[in-house]
Amino acid sequence: MSTLLEISGVNKSFGGLQALDDVNLKVNEGTVHAIIGPNGAGKSTLLNAIIGKLVPDTGSVMFNGQDMIGVQPHQINQHGISRVFQTPEIFGELTILENMMIPLLAHRDGAFKPTLWARSDAQADILEKAEHYLADVNLWGKKDVHSASLSRGDKRRLELAMCLSQDPKLLLLDEPTAGMARADTNNTIDLLQTIASRGITMAIIEHDMHVVFSLSQRISVLAQGHVICEGMPEEIKTDPRVREAYLGG
Ligand code: ADP
Ligand code: MG
Repeated sequence: MSTLLEISGVNKSFGGLQALDDVNLKVNEGTVHAIIGPNGAGKSTLLNAIIGKLVPDTGSVMFNGQDMIGVQPHQINQHGISRVFQTPEIFGELTILENMMIPLLAHRDGAFKPTLWARSDAQADILEKAEHYLADVNLWGKKDVHSASLSRGDKRRLELAMCLSQDPKLLLLDEPTAGMARADTNNTIDLLQTIASRGITMAIIEHDMHVVFSLSQRISVLAQGHVICEGMPEEIKTDPRVREAYLGG
């Protein structure tokens, strides 16, 4: 199995606080890899280091064989890394279809090109793509609904459709089911399973163990900025170090 993402010896301090302490982590192509750990363990900081929002003090982040340190966030996105934050990043005042148009009207160079819409030959193609990606997440029927009125689960589906239209190699998810009711959580798990079954690699930060164990093939446990253990879900479930990190952390 080939390694898609390899984090080696990553350190990051904020003043006197060592948020990441020699982090090593490999995500294999075609797998779902969960990163779990108590609050303040450094999970979001690690994610920010992967997407270029934050530059580590030392260490390397290799994606698809290329060093991502110092690469700007929009360029990292063009390399094939898409991310989903805790709060869905969509425009509430726009309809589902209008939100979906945003990534479809964005150029590969990262610039937003609404003028593309003025070209009648491009319009049909863009609408066809919008229908494809929205139908894929079961939202085409609601395309004219204002996004602000959607349930948390539907907002997440819309955001995932927007991500998928960029044809990512790696999807990073920071607590994708945070604040969701159980039904929405289960819907989101189903959708993420479908996406994973197409071979898209995922790294998922998640508190909800039901979500973690439903989706992931490998789990890394982060505590106080360090990966304290890594393994298959059955191994992690019974590891005494994990229990201790959660109870004593
Ligand atoms: P997690 O996502 O696992 O809950 P974070 O990565 O958000 O943890 O935070 C790890 C530690 O780093 C925490 O103690 C947090 O307060 C600290 N931290 C995170 N970002 C910053 C920042 N920009 N400046 C100072 N401290 C930060
Ligand atoms: Mg966090």
